[in-house]
Amino acid sequence: MMENEMYDVLIIGSGPAGIGAAVYAVRAGLKAAVLDRSPVSGGQVLSTYEVDNYLGFPGVSGSDLSDAFRRHADMLGVVFITADVQGFEDCSGVQTMYTVHTDKGHFVSRTVIIATGASHSLLGAPGEKELAGMGVSYCATCDGAFYRKSTVAVVGGGDVAVEDAVFLAGICQKVYLVHRRNQLRAAESLQKKLLSLENVEIIWDSEVEEIFGREMVEGIKIHNKKNREENTLDVEGVFIAVGIVPDTALLADLVEMDEKGYIIADETCATSRKGIFAAGDIRKKPMRQIITAVADGANAVHSVQEFLNAETN
Ligand code: NAP
Repeated sequence: MMENEMYDVLIIGSGPAGIGAAVYAVRAGLKAAVLDRSPVSGGQVLSTYEVDNYLGFPGVSGSDLSDAFRRHADMLGVVFITADVQGFEDCSGVQTMYTVHTDKGHFVSRTVIIATGASHSLLGAPGEKELAGMGVSYCATCDGAFYRKSTVAVVGGGDVAVEDAVFLAGICQKVYLVHRRNQLRAAESLQKKLLSLENVEIIWDSEVEEIFGREMVEGIKIHNKKNREENTLDVEGVFIAVGIVPDTALLADLVEMDEKGYIIADETCATSRKGIFAAGDIRKKPMRQIITAVADGANAVHSVQEFLNAETN
């Protein structure tokens, strides 16, 4: 399928940055559509148990907040297309133009906002891949219910690891939080919550050497980096929350990225290639939060408008 329509802006990804951009684009009168491989909007927010720092929605669940974002966009008539993007082609002539190739056909647009976000990193420990889905999980809200009254471990020390540990503490009998340093990276408020829970034990300065089990996870081997002690924790589940990697595989030859694969763009969201903008977690930035992703969406659309005006006049 090749669409006859020419879009002003195609937005790739329907997390907070993508939906934020879509709302601003539609209100600006731009011909816009959002392409996402999933019909369910929300991105990483969907797998967040509780969001306590998005303005106006204290303590909201990630899925409720995602629903609210999507409802807002639907009310304004945002067009969502479920399609897996497979590549971008620069077809610029006198004016800038891109063809976005997808599994549902090709879409042509004057500009593109990349808002594909990031996905979880792998830990890289032996047993992780073999036992994925058999006790190894990357989403506590998705899989936590399988571990009712069990003992589990969470690996990591950031916001996601601490949120996961707090969430799992409400379901599981015992939660170990295994962190490689003696200080958590997570927000103070999350740390306070974590430290108040009696069934959470933090294992400091320790790395997971191996995740083991015959068919299902039976435990993890840990190594204390300070006293060099080796230990085994008997756990039925291991929740890995050791950071994120940007979903920029398709963009390697298109825009400049840093060494970790984040797209280099400042607050205007303009990338090294004209007509391509980057919004949300995919952009190199100091703070990755829902509120900064939504703000990127608005800024990106403002930049798109300026870009289109400059090319048209
Ligand atoms: P993150 O902030 O990058 O934290 C990753 C954690 O995993 C760090 O504690 C890190 O240890 C540890 N780690 C990394 N590689 C490891 C390895 N190979 N072995 C063991 N530990 C390892 O990632 P995140 O928690 O997934 O959060 C991602 C982004 O989303 C962050 O910017 C975060 O602020 C944001 N976020 C915000 C909210 C919120 O506002 N409510 C919620 C969720 C996420 P070190 O500390 O030693 O580096």
